[in-house]
Amino acid sequence: MFKAVVIRKDDAGYRAAIETLDESALPEGDVTIRVSHSTLNYKDGLAITGKGPVVRRFPMVPGIDLAGVVTESSHPAWKAGDAVLLNGWGVGETHWGGLAEVARLKGDWLIPQPAAFSPAQAMSIGTAGYTAMLCVMALERHGVTPAQGEILVTGAAGGVGSVAVAVLAKLGYTVVAVSGRPETEAYLRELGASEVLPRESFSAPGKPLAKERWAGAVDVVGGHTLANVCASTKYRGVVAACGLAGGMDFPATVAPFILRGVTLAGIDSVMCPTPDRIEAWRRLGEDLDPARLDLITRSIPLEDAIEVAGQLIAGQVRGRVVIAL
Ligand code: NDP
Repeated sequence: MFKAVVIRKDDAGYRAAIETLDESALPEGDVTIRVSHSTLNYKDGLAITGKGPVVRRFPMVPGIDLAGVVTESSHPAWKAGDAVLLNGWGVGETHWGGLAEVARLKGDWLIPQPAAFSPAQAMSIGTAGYTAMLCVMALERHGVTPAQGEILVTGAAGGVGSVAVAVLAKLGYTVVAVSGRPETEAYLRELGASEVLPRESFSAPGKPLAKERWAGAVDVVGGHTLANVCASTKYRGVVAACGLAGGMDFPATVAPFILRGVTLAGIDSVMCPTPDRIEAWRRLGEDLDPARLDLITRSIPLEDAIEVAGQLIAGQVRGRVVIAL
């Protein structure tokens, strides 16, 4: 028997609860894992609260991330005792996920536990932090360097934003953070932001082109914010877009792209090929100070996951939340 968050949708409505399940209920898969740690990402918040169409099958165990140890495997790459990490691949959406003491899934989705981090630290980073690293790598791939100027990070006090600020600052970039929570300014400066701007500077409809300021940007918000970020990005600057915390729409013009050669780089963590995942985690080992994770992270028991998921979607969670199982 094992404990899990279970989301059900039936005549009684959409609801999430902690349940005790028999291992015979686990889905098919060639690797079984004793999960030691999981986490809450924005997508888990949407799944648990039902505020977004994340869950594709019911009942569902949410949790797009997990760290744990293999207990059984018929997959050639994994054997009992291996420490493994999972991010994405539709886990917690179409396949039972990490908010459970036991998981069974496809060995092809797993990567080895990164040597630089403990399982708790790996979940403190989680999909949010690994996506932040994918954004930083996209800026680099398109030629952005610290000498070119300021990098903007939106939704900076959230999970992706906090890790992006910490990594960019450690790499020597001048980081400007955008946050809707003025009380997080000291936190963002401690992570390495040199300036903190209010969310309202970006959230209202703006002009197709604004004063050029950013050499690069990491945007988790979308909507008018992403449009305004593109409009104020410097000639040949790069915007890595990974989120929709402010909306799915993109009310922009092509002006920044065709008149300033701005690049809009889309970032997806879910289906990202395994070699790129391993490289992102290797880079996190080099470019994220593990001491920063203590500042970013709060640890909670599984029993609190449902309540904290609601707070996350309400924009009340700072940084990252780890769940020790
Ligand atoms: P969090 O909830 O931790 O952070 C989101 C932050 O965005 C909040 O903390 C807040 O920051 C800001 N925010 C929230 N609501 C609004 C709003 N209405 N308008 C403007 N800003 C807002 O989520 P994550 O960091 O885990 O994820 C951020 C986004 O990135 C989500 O949309 C998520 O789905 C997406 N994502 C995408 C991935 C991909 O593969 N493409 C992978 C991981 C995440 P503040 O208080 O500082 O303003």
